[in-house]
Amino acid sequence: MDLDPSPDEAAFRAEARSWLAAHVPTAPLPSLETAEGFAAHRAWERILAANGWSVVSWPRRYGGRGASTTEWLLFEQEYYAAGAPGRVSQNGTQLLAPTLFAHGTAEQRARVLPPMADGEVIWAQAWSEPEAGSDLAALRATARRTSGGWLLYGQKTWSSRAAFADRAFGLFRGGPAGERPHQGLTYVMFPLDAPGVTVRPIRRLDGKPAFAELFLDGVFVPDRDVIGEPGQGWRVAMSTAGSERGLTLRSPGRFTAAAARLAALWRERADPADTALRDRVADAVIAARAYHLRACATATRETEAAASRAAETRAGEARAAETRSGTRASARATVRRAATAATARAADRQRADNPAEASVNKVFWSELDLALHETALDLLGPYGELSDAAADAPGGGRWAEGYVFSLAGPVYAGTNEIQRDIIAERLLGLDRGRR
Ligand SMILES: Cc1cc2nc3c(=O)[nH]c(=O)nc-3n(C[C@H](O)[C@H](O)[C@H](O)COP(=O)(O)OP(=O)(O)OC[C@H]3O[C@@H](n4cnc5c(N)ncnc54)[C@H](O)[C@@H]3O)c2cc1C
Repeated sequence: MDLDPSPDEAAFRAEARSWLAAHVPTAPLPSLETAEGFAAHRAWERILAANGWSVVSWPRRYGGRGASTTEWLLFEQEYYAAGAPGRVSQNGTQLLAPTLFAHGTAEQRARVLPPMADGEVIWAQAWSEPEAGSDLAALRATARRTSGGWLLYGQKTWSSRAAFADRAFGLFRGGPAGERPHQGLTYVMFPLDAPGVTVRPIRRLDGKPAFAELFLDGVFVPDRDVIGEPGQGWRVAMSTAGSERGLTLRSPGRFTAAAARLAALWRERADPADTALRDRVADAVIAARAYHLRACATATRETEAAASRAAETRAGEARAAETRSGTRASARATVRRAATAATARAADRQRADNPAEASVNKVFWSELDLALHETALDLLGPYGELSDAAADAPGGGRWAEGYVFSLAGPVYAGTNEIQRDIIAERLLGLDRGRR
């Protein structure tokens, strides 16, 4: 693995760095879990989008820059190192968008992605229900067939920022039912201001309305807002879950930047005699770097897979040309080369699709986030617990807010107990535990 960026990648990073230096707000934006903060973060998404930085890895036609995974990693590193604001549009850009790239129609991508890229439409995830969290397939909300579409009924809960968001995506019981609970689910997109939707905010421990529950009573969804086939929603949902637990939602740049801030905090405030705390700082920095290196390995694998796909295409073209010109022996050799490349590509895809890999990732980043923030609060002492509402909160209350959020990491995106079950069974081949 070569960790030095290529000249093109270095130029991309330099461009991002200088743009961020000129545009990142000098004072932190208000918390995005409040109406005021949500609006300020939406305005920031517009600034990013107007300059082509909101969704760098998407194709250009949807508002991206067609950046490779390596360039995306470099951008994220620069973004968080510059202290840029959290991304209010991430449910859309990191969860719904990859799902549309994999399962949506060209019409859905053309209609949904550009307003998502520029923060005009901000999305909420409407999956969990009061009795369906870890056991998502136990969900009860329904989509009933009607002329030209579906009518949604039921209740969703813990929908992050749905109190302020514009639209939501979720799973409903509808379409051809099967014998098992995860059959017969349909994946739909719907507006949060449609007739029949009631959004009731849920306040977090610190009083901010970070979540909402949704009550749906005959909400109309046209056929064009169903993703994938009706009744096949589970397969589509697992693709979203892979993104949620995998690399993109929690990019390494977040943690390397937080680790650097933690090390700076240690230098500024710590008692050098406290070697136990010093060791925790060092461990957090090591873990953040390890996560970054693992991401680099994934990016390298993807780059190599893209190169092998390109080679395969070239070989196919050569094969066609040779067959046309009658050089059959050489055509056979080319076919063999193409078959080897195809096998490598399939193995690569299988690794990338392995849900247990995403689960390993999820347990790692959530525990790393907790360790980083707990260490920072221990270093800051009692003042570290002051929220952003207190004038003398260290760092504007950023560590305290980050700590509250990190506590939720082992719960959202599928609890860590469930992720460990997946790892034990699917990656390690251990026996299925008692449930
Ligand atoms: C900050 C935050 C943001 C969230 N945002 C959203 C959102 O935007 N949209 C959305 O739809 N949902 C969201 N959620 C909800 C989240 O997905 C659920 O909380 C999560 O899936 C767990 O479900 P639950 O709360 O019903 O807990 P339960 O499923 O009731 O689990 C309770 C405990 O029992 C354990 N447990 C359950 N079953 C098993 C088992 N088979 N084996 C071992 N242990 C088990 C769990 O691991 C957990 O520790 C969010 C949650 C948080 C905390």
